[in-house]
Amino acid sequence: MTLRGRLTSAFLVVVLGPVLLGSIFVALTVGAVSRERTAERLDHAAITVGAAVSAVCRQLQAAADAVAVVPATERSAVADQLIARGLATAIRMTGPDQQPESSRPRGASREEMLEKGGRPIGWQNCAEPAPGAVTALAALATTPQAGTTPEVTVMAAQRVDGALLARIGAVGGVAVTLGAPAAGSGAGVRGLTAEPGQPLPLILTVPAADPTVRYAILLLIVLVTALAAMLAARWLARSTTRPLGDLAWAADRVANGDLDTRVPIPRPDELGRLAGTFNRMTRELQSYVQALTASRDQLRRHLAILGDTLSSTHDLDRILPVILRTAMTATGARAGLILLAEPDGRLAVRCGAGLTGEWDLPAAELAQRRLVAGRGVLGTVASTGAPLQGTGATSDDEPACESYLAVPICAPPNPDAEGEPGPGTLGVLALYDRLGSPAFEDTDLRTLRTFAGQAGVAVNNVRVHEEAQRLSLTDPLTGLWNYRYLREVLRREVERASRFGRMLTVLVLDLDHFKEVNDTYGHTAGDLVLGEFARRIRIGLREVDVAFRQGGEEFVVLLPETDAYGGVIVAERLGAAVRDWPVPIDPRRPDLDDRISISVSIGIAVFPEHGNTAQEVLDAADVALYAAKNSGRDTYRLAERGSFDPAAATTGGPQPPRQVRGR
Ligand code: GH3
Ligand code: MG
Ligand code: MG
Repeated sequence: MTLRGRLTSAFLVVVLGPVLLGSIFVALTVGAVSRERTAERLDHAAITVGAAVSAVCRQLQAAADAVAVVPATERSAVADQLIARGLATAIRMTGPDQQPESSRPRGASREEMLEKGGRPIGWQNCAEPAPGAVTALAALATTPQAGTTPEVTVMAAQRVDGALLARIGAVGGVAVTLGAPAAGSGAGVRGLTAEPGQPLPLILTVPAADPTVRYAILLLIVLVTALAAMLAARWLARSTTRPLGDLAWAADRVANGDLDTRVPIPRPDELGRLAGTFNRMTRELQSYVQALTASRDQLRRHLAILGDTLSSTHDLDRILPVILRTAMTATGARAGLILLAEPDGRLAVRCGAGLTGEWDLPAAELAQRRLVAGRGVLGTVASTGAPLQGTGATSDDEPACESYLAVPICAPPNPDAEGEPGPGTLGVLALYDRLGSPAFEDTDLRTLRTFAGQAGVAVNNVRVHEEAQRLSLTDPLTGLWNYRYLREVLRREVERASRFGRMLTVLVLDLDHFKEVNDTYGHTAGDLVLGEFARRIRIGLREVDVAFRQGGEEFVVLLPETDAYGGVIVAERLGAAVRDWPVPIDPRRPDLDDRISISVSIGIAVFPEHGNTAQEVLDAADVALYAAKNSGRDTYRLAERGSFDPAAATTGGPQPPRQVRGR
């Protein structure tokens, strides 16, 4: 059942119930009252009717007495006079001077006048009523005894007809008929028995008011009230449930995502307030959803950038700022900082965003900052590996803030190295001042841990990548860069030298008679000599110079920003470093006399003097090395200009390199 139906029913019950009960009560009361009134009227009528009949009897008695007292000769005349005056309808005398004609009542038929036992039939003696049909009332009187005069009985009669009954009834306000009392029992009817003084058997009838009319009126009132109540209930239910229906409809639409929905405000009552509140709630929900959608879109963009960045580069300087910005967007932080642990245990600032005060620095200056592990919020997070979260100031050498949240950046667990201790904390990711909230929440901690995990993966990936790169580009025996890397670096250096108009010198070194070392001391000793040779090359070079093992016992050294003269100096230095200190066979016992004397031949070529490309310069240096070998080994040769020309090689071989040794 709908709310409208329930409201209508309740209203109808509340209104119609009392109306119906009242009507029934009124109907019952009216019936009882009308019965009581009828009984009262009949009681009253019985008295008045009785009195009226007695009065008629007394009048007849008086008439009979009046006739009886006059002399016999005047009786007839008196009787006629009394009849003429209407005091009796007939006066009859029985005795010697009887004058029947004069006593005949006016209008009475002869048959009525028939005698029976000295009295006309149907005449009811007022003093001694007798059962039987009644046609008239009569009173008797006898003449006074005087001497021999015979006694005469005078009878004065009043005819009982409709007119008399009507007159009597009018006095009591009832309808009066002749009849036996038993025949007239029931509501509104009262029987009067004949008795001395009231000799008529009468039935009194009160014209009963027709109750159906009253009941019809009552029913009409009830029906009209019911109709009015139904209309009122309908209006009330409609006016109450319509705004509720509107609200339900609007709530349904809002639930389906249509936040533009508003409901009309019907009246400034409770429902109006409800509608107003609903509209306000929907409006706020809409703006909240819009804000949420905007921040979700922003986060989505950041995550897309993060995904692209993570998958496209191993450059931490690009990855870490993106991770930081995404973490700030996801948590609504004002500022943030990423620090990575350095080999010396200190924390280096790698990137920052939104920082203020003395931390509001360009990226390059920010990257100069170092924090000590174990001190302050950031240092504690780095040393303990546990996140910290709080409000208020951090330590003096950390960014000023009202609230902070710092989590460690850890390397992802290595499934191949289960059980081994991990690489520890790689760094710290910290956020400052959550916008619109006095402190960071636990959900922010979870979010930030996710981003710290990303940062950990990125840093770890970069380190693994760097290590792999290093392994793929270095020679395991000597630790120098390998041939692959030589080609890469040479190409890059030639390009740079060419762009900046600088020179680049290439030395190609080959140990002399190395086969004999192997043959004499064994392959292991040969390896040892190779390692020692590489070490001497390394320590004999500047930081910008790069040494490579090209293969076997051949090495290459690149000397950026160096001309032929500089190349020659290095060649001499390296030659001496090899020649002057024979390599001990057992490096753990350098005091042993058994040492291997070695020497090296070196070819020198200079870009752009001896070649325009990396390969040309390398080829020129090779040709120079060949020349050094040819000229007796343990020496160096500078390439000839154009010595790399392949045409020259086929037509007559390279020109003998110029001997520059001994400068
Ligand atoms: P030269 O260069 O003076 O003409 O004579 P050489 O004996 O050095 O001649 P060559 O360059 O032809 O020989 C190179 C030898 O170096 C051959 C090989 O036995 C040795 N060799 C190459 N690679 C290694 C290595 O990794 N370890 C050791 N122990 N020996 C190597
Ligand atoms: Mg060789
Ligand atoms: Mg050799």
